[in-house]
Amino acid sequence: MPATPAWPPKSLPRLFVPVALGKGASVALDAGQANYLGNVMRLGPGEHVLVFNGTSGEWIARIAEAGRKRMTLAVEDRTREQEKVPDCWLAFAPVKRAQTDWLVEKATELGIARLLPVVTQRTIVQRVKLERLRSIAIEAAEQCNRTSVPAIDEPVPLESLLKNLSGRTLCFADEAGGEPVAKAFTPGPATILTGPEGGFTDAERVAIRAAPGAVGISLGPRILRAETAALAAISLWMAVAGDWARAPVR
Ligand code: SAM
Repeated sequence: MPATPAWPPKSLPRLFVPVALGKGASVALDAGQANYLGNVMRLGPGEHVLVFNGTSGEWIARIAEAGRKRMTLAVEDRTREQEKVPDCWLAFAPVKRAQTDWLVEKATELGIARLLPVVTQRTIVQRVKLERLRSIAIEAAEQCNRTSVPAIDEPVPLESLLKNLSGRTLCFADEAGGEPVAKAFTPGPATILTGPEGGFTDAERVAIRAAPGAVGISLGPRILRAETAALAAISLWMAVAGDWARAPVR
């Protein structure tokens, strides 16, 4: 007897839609999404896609209407509950555009909950294009099966970050050395802090270490590029916190 096909199929396109989702809801896609489904994926009325809005889990939806530049979906059933995101934030000194884009994409895949660009004394890039970074995070969330999208904040000066730690452990990636991560990463809300290409100044390192809940961590004997350091620290935090003990969501 042939096996019953899995429903929904694993290969359905997944889209982030910034609207309320529920059984029977109608969702008008933007022109880019309509073009992607209609012209790139060649899907039409009656076919199915998966949608999520960052807060209400994942839903299967049927293409109800399709035009040249527009498409409407009819939401049918919830396929997944909203995930519980590990409470790990990354505060990072922005680096060059391509590297920052890569950092945002990979940090999203690794499960980061929030990204906070931080301006330090040696930060060369003072401005970041938040809308661009947000769309990179959305695309990464669509691709890696997240039901959430990380928040991305406006850049703040390092002093502001240190004054507003909100009781979270500050895991400071200190290129001058620190605790081994297996010892330093404790359960509970954490903010990882990584520096710019030129590193932190000595005065910044002193101020960071004096902040409440700060712990300096070492990422090994080699000096990592800023974006490598950030992704290594997130990976280690997720592994120690137990996130990597969970099976991939399919
Ligand atoms: N110019 C600095 C130097 O030569 O010491 C290196 C800065 S590194 C490219 C950028 C950031 O990555 C650092 O500020 C730090 O946050 C982090 N980082 C790089 N390697 C690290 C390591 N082995 N341990 C801890 N943090 C590291």
